Amino acid sequence: MINIIRKETAPDCLKKQTDYNCDDVLEKLKKDFFGKCYICETKLFSTNIEHFKAHKGDKKLKFEWTNLFLACSHCNSIKSTTEILNCTDPKHDVENWITYKPIQLSENKVEISTKRTDKLSINTVKVLNKVYNGHTKIKKRDGMTIKEHLVEEMLSFHHLMLEYNKAKHNEKKFKNREMFIEEELHKGSKLTAFKRQVIKDNSKYHQFKKYFD
Ligand SMILES: [Zn+2]
Repeated sequence: MINIIRKETAPDCLKKQTDYNCDDVLEKLKKDFFGKCYICETKLFSTNIEHFKAHKGDKKLKFEWTNLFLACSHCNSIKSTTEILNCTDPKHDVENWITYKPIQLSENKVEISTKRTDKLSINTVKVLNKVYNGHTKIKKRDGMTIKEHLVEEMLSFHHLMLEYNKAKHNEKKFKNREMFIEEELHKGSKLTAFKRQVIKDNSKYHQFKKYFD
């Protein structure tokens, strides 16, 4: 999970308070959330318009633009009505409050943790662990799909970092690799939080933090 800056303004169709599921809402959400689910950070499953805070019939919450998020069907059903950190709230520093342990291929498990003790952080970590590892038969299968994708993404990211180190004496190649690293660390890339964690955990890569915007 990474912090998202909401740039788009509320679509007109929300003003009528009849349909929050209109094309404009989806299009604008896709722009702000880079087309990926804000929870698992992939595009592997169909995306839904999610009510961040359950509206429970409350019309204001149901049609409130800032309460609408882009989430996939897998994550949406796991999160359900659980209250978690709000990645669009700059006060919720989700990128530094949550830690992603590199996936252990032998264990095939993703471990996500937090040092914080507040309810929202703890709930977020619980939801994320369920998202990547599953907690029911069906969810485990979907979690496995994400994990396979995660392993591929991370192997390719580590390979890119190695290529960068090897290209130090070839300026053209060096710059080219740096450009790819910038793309991988951009919010629009898949599973960005996992890639940024690699940079944070290795002091020799801290120079790339400049691409975390
Ligand atoms: Zn998802």
